[in-house]
Amino acid sequence: MGESKFLPVRTCIGCGKKGGKADFIKIVKNKNGEVFVNADKEIFGRGAYICRDGKCVAKAEKKNRLSRTLKLSDCADIYQKLNEIIGD
Ligand SMILES: [Zn+2]
Repeated sequence: MGESKFLPVRTCIGCGKKGGKADFIKIVKNKNGEVFVNADKEIFGRGAYICRDGKCVAKAEKKNRLSRTLKLSDCADIYQKLNEIIGD
């Protein structure tokens, strides 16, 4: 049993691009149902990744990708926060 060399591949919920975690903004819902966007510490829970690109946020919102991935009914605040982080 050596150290694991496994590097998880992240996929953008907007465009489907794959990459490492540094390429994306991470959205996590912990077991208490609290949602963290771009947290500066590791949060354990159900996670989603999205490019730092407003087009991906718009795509994900249109297709309700975040709701499905995180099992949340209303993600409007999260999309708003993502847009704030990305700016334009
Ligand atoms: Zn993307």
